[in-house]
Amino acid sequence: MSLLVVGSVAFDAIESPYGKEDRIIGGAATYFAVAASFFTHVNLVGIVGDDFTRDDEKIFHGRKIDTTGLERANGKCFFWAGRYLQNLNERVTITTELNVFADFNPKLPEKYKDSKYVFLANIAPNLQRSVLHQVKKRPKVVALDTMNYWIERTPADLKETLKHVDILVINDSETRQLSNEHNLLRAAKHIFKMGPSALVVKRGEYGAMLVDKNGVFCVPAFPLEEPHDPTGAGDAFAGGFMGYLAGAGKHNDAALRRAMVYGTVMGSFTVEEFGPRRLTRLKPKEIYARARHILKLSQFKL
Ligand code: AMP
Repeated sequence: MSLLVVGSVAFDAIESPYGKEDRIIGGAATYFAVAASFFTHVNLVGIVGDDFTRDDEKIFHGRKIDTTGLERANGKCFFWAGRYLQNLNERVTITTELNVFADFNPKLPEKYKDSKYVFLANIAPNLQRSVLHQVKKRPKVVALDTMNYWIERTPADLKETLKHVDILVINDSETRQLSNEHNLLRAAKHIFKMGPSALVVKRGEYGAMLVDKNGVFCVPAFPLEEPHDPTGAGDAFAGGFMGYLAGAGKHNDAALRRAMVYGTVMGSFTVEEFGPRRLTRLKPKEIYARARHILKLSQFKL
């Protein structure tokens, strides 16, 4: 089943203890779409400036990604610059330039309007809501990601958008910031009152946790000896997670658990190289092999 995503398509400048890139394709929707396209067909909604060349767009080609909804405008692409500290789990945002996203008024192509799975990737909450409202029938699953930038600047808009969301997929510090609760289980209870009925907390090198009516399910991060750049790992996690659910066409407890593993797998590949490079070279059989590996490393007998 097809999966609709709206979010940033960007250029990033990244510094980590392992190197530096001054301008590399990024954006939440970019990582999400590439990761999800290994599992299902993706309808992409976003906007790029005239600095985004036909060559840059090739990142979406040859995959199950429909770019009819990727608008081109005069001006510059969204730009983000960030620096990671030694432990790679913490990062500092140096610049966020909305550029063409500042005046974006998304218009959903007709063929996207009956998408059954919707992912509102990181971007202004009013844009996320505008896209969701253009979908004709209530989708089977609506999931959302956001970050401190929007939690701090547009809290009322975010709260309004969250009312229409089933699964919130965010990182641990944002979970705490949004809920004002340090403990993640208490944070989940608080977030359930805002609209979502499930919470997925991305915890970087500590793995990911799902909290919903069935309880708690945790997946460890895939242990890597040489992580290079965590940028986009959260979006690729969401791509694997939602891509799996849309591909399977169900979201019962067993499907959600498998989706958590495929999310973890896609995030782990992303951090192996700078930007989306490793994701673009990925082979489906590598995904399955890593999922089996996670199964092995987390199994035990009592
Ligand atoms: P992640 O590492 O998964 O949190 O996502 C990193 C990506 O998010 C980068 O490629 C950025 O271009 C994009 N990004 C950073 N800040 C924002 C923001 N405020 N809104 C939307 N996208 C952003």
